[in-house]
Amino acid sequence: MNDLYELPLDEAGYNFGFLDEYAKREIRRAVIKAICVPGYQTPYASREMPMGRGFGTGGLQLTLSLVGPDDTLKVIDQGSDDSVNAVNLRHFVELTCEGVQTTEHTSEATLIQSRHRIPEVALTEEQILVLQVPYPDPLVVVEPSEARRKTMHGEGDYSRLLTKLYEDIVQFDEITISHRYPTRINGHYVIDPSPIPRYDVPQLHMSAALVLLGAGREKKIYAVPPYTRADPLAFDDVPFRTEDFHDEHGKRRACVRCGSIDSFLDEIIGEDGDKSYQCSDSDYCNDYRNGHTHQKANATNEGAVQ
Ligand SMILES: [Zn+2]
Repeated sequence: MNDLYELPLDEAGYNFGFLDEYAKREIRRAVIKAICVPGYQTPYASREMPMGRGFGTGGLQLTLSLVGPDDTLKVIDQGSDDSVNAVNLRHFVELTCEGVQTTEHTSEATLIQSRHRIPEVALTEEQILVLQVPYPDPLVVVEPSEARRKTMHGEGDYSRLLTKLYEDIVQFDEITISHRYPTRINGHYVIDPSPIPRYDVPQLHMSAALVLLGAGREKKIYAVPPYTRADPLAFDDVPFRTEDFHDEHGKRRACVRCGSIDSFLDEIIGEDGDKSYQCSDSDYCNDYRNGHTHQKANATNEGAVQ
């Protein structure tokens, strides 16, 4: 039999994990292409998964094609390991990929699948971050035709996107995009970095960890390779800025649970209508509460990133 058709099966005659070897091979090829052309939306044959599209099937296919018995996986949703989506995805990998360890600690994980957040602590070269993507193309808001969008990406023509940001400034005095902030990778392609808050965008810049983004429904994979430029679109006189967590007196709000004043905070409204703030990254919050300190990824996050 031809080598191409020979599958690496285990002793019992099964291939490893949920995806068959052909599917993994195709996804890994798309990943290699995505790494070689940073920010380019590489098409792939997205498989049917035993869950609805929109629940992270793109991220899960990346995870399942990369994970091996020596890996430790962390799955987070909105910064939390305990939300329904994260628990179900983690449980699915535990059920189908024998030998894979799972963890809630960012520093222990070799592979991190996430929705809507990048962990607070700096990731390392030994880690891969997989982000779940609902809408991969940032140009979709200004151009309905995919063929035309492809030409615009190829030519690096993002003038209409910049016009949209400019219209925001004219109307609201600032750029109002809170999530999915268009970000230029390696000086050319502009990506939709998935629904992470603006606060997380600077972490993509020169990240030591490989960042892979997978859109299952839209059948696209793209990447921010390690140590690659990631520049949020902005203007010389209106620089990019992240969320502001200062109160009306100019004091940085602290997490009500751990006291941290340098993490991304979720606003919680109590029964009496009072607002309080808590770290969105639950592992970071627990660690900070227990007196552990890690190297913060967002040390430079206070200022503008050009
Ligand atoms: Zn906290």
